[in-house]
Amino acid sequence: MFRLDGKVALVTGGSRGIGRACSEALAAQGATVLVNYVRGEEEAKKTVAAIEAKGGKAEAVGFDIADVERTEAAIAEAAKRHGRLDILVANAGIAIDNLVLRVKEEEIDKLFAVNVKGSIFAAKAAIKVMMRAKTGRIVFLSSIVGEMGNAGQTGYAATKAAVLGVTKSLAREYASRNVTVNAVAPGFIDTDMTTQISGDMKDAMLKSIPLARTGRSEEVAAAVAFLCSDEASYITGDVLRVNGGMLMG
Ligand code: NAD
Repeated sequence: MFRLDGKVALVTGGSRGIGRACSEALAAQGATVLVNYVRGEEEAKKTVAAIEAKGGKAEAVGFDIADVERTEAAIAEAAKRHGRLDILVANAGIAIDNLVLRVKEEEIDKLFAVNVKGSIFAAKAAIKVMMRAKTGRIVFLSSIVGEMGNAGQTGYAATKAAVLGVTKSLAREYASRNVTVNAVAPGFIDTDMTTQISGDMKDAMLKSIPLARTGRSEEVAAAVAFLCSDEASYITGDVLRVNGGMLMG
C-alpha cells in the first residue's frame, strides 16, 4: 500500500526539516524526488545522497519560490526532463515572529511572498502538467496556527490560514481533472524553525499537547506521503492535522 513507484515528485524546501523528511518518505515509496532548495545546495546534495544510499532516486533543483518566473520555469523544465510531474509538496516556508505593535511591513510582505505567493505559483506550474495528464497530487504545508492563531505570529498565522483557502479553492478548481489538493497542518514539530522558541514557551506548549511531546518531521511526512498515494484518491480539499491532539474537532 501507498507505493509511488514510477511517479515524479517535487518537494519545495525539500532539503531540511519537514521537507527533507517528505523527500525521503516519497523516495522510500518509490517516487523520483526533485529536492528543491534555495540557498543550501550542500544540504540538498546530502539529502539526495541519503536517498540514493537507500536505493531511491532524487535530484537537487535550486530555485527561490518567491521568484515567480524562475519557479514556473524550473518546474516546467523539470517536468519536461522527466516526462511527468505527479506530486507537488508545497512545503517551503518561513516564520518571522513579532508582536503586531512591532511588526514591520517588509516582514509581512516577505512572509506572504514565500508562504502564499510562492506556494500558489509552484502549484500553478505543477497543475499545468497535471491537468494534461488528468492526474496529480498537491499537498500544501499549513500549520496549526493557521487554524488556532498564536500570539506573536499574526503574519505567519495569516499566511498559513491563507494556504488553507488556496488548498480548498484549487481542490474545487481541478477536481474535474482528477488532481487532488490537500493540506497537512502540523503542530509543534522539532526542526530548525522551532529551535528558536524559548524554554518557557516550549513548556507551556507541551502542557497543551495531549500526547505530551513535540512531533517528528517523519510523522508529518507520513501524512504527506499518504495524501500523495493512489489510496488517497477520494480525499480532496481536506486538512490533515498532525499535532499530537493539540487541536481537535
Ligand atoms: P525549516 O525552516 O527547517 O525548513 C523550511 C524549508 O523551506 C527550508 O529548506 C528552506 O530553505 C525552505 N525555504 C524557505 N524559503 C524558501 C524559498 N524562498 N524558496 C525555496 N525554499 C525556501 O522549517 P520546517 O519546520 O521544516 O517547516 C516546513 C514547513 O512546515 C513550513 O511551511 C512551515 O511553515 C511548516 N510548519 C512547520 C511547523 C514546525 O513546528 N516545524 C509547524 C507547522 C507548520
